[in-house]
Amino acid sequence: MGASSVKTAIVVIDMINDFVTGKLKCNGASKIITNIGRLLESARSAGIPIIYANDAHLPGIDGELKIWPEHALAGTEGAEVVEELKPLRGDYIIQKRRYSAFFGTCLDLLLRELEVDTLVLVGLVTNVCIQNTAGDAFFRGYRVIVPEDCVGAASEEDHRSGIDYMRKIYGCEIARAEGLISRGWV
Ligand code: ZN
Repeated sequence: MGASSVKTAIVVIDMINDFVTGKLKCNGASKIITNIGRLLESARSAGIPIIYANDAHLPGIDGELKIWPEHALAGTEGAEVVEELKPLRGDYIIQKRRYSAFFGTCLDLLLRELEVDTLVLVGLVTNVCIQNTAGDAFFRGYRVIVPEDCVGAASEEDHRSGIDYMRKIYGCEIARAEGLISRGWV
């Protein structure tokens, strides 16, 4: 592990059953699974912390459920990470109730304890939870990298608009999985 690699963490957002195959199936989900898997394998061998941030909604309470159909209820199979990308021992798992993985969660505390200053965001949905998490990371001073072949949205237009927004407004670096791996994550 190089000295620089310890400052990076990968945050896997909402790669859960309800978004990949279930109630709120996202068209862009299936094609990113392999790329994320490759990235996670590389991250594990490089000693880069892996943090899963998963929707875990409370029925009848969560504001998000007034906008979207019911999905990812806490404790249900729909809120579990898909089989292909299951967390392993040593990974961190955070439950969230809003788009941003920072809002109302211990993510910022965890990142500080891990002495992380750079986040690689992967998962779903490019222009919703990824974009909102990227914004909250930017507000807190983190450097954000988004491998565009590891995030997906309902449509190509939604995906592109999220990528463009994060690049222009939050200064995110837009990368690709293989590029990140081959350059050693920095
Ligand atoms: Zn949700």
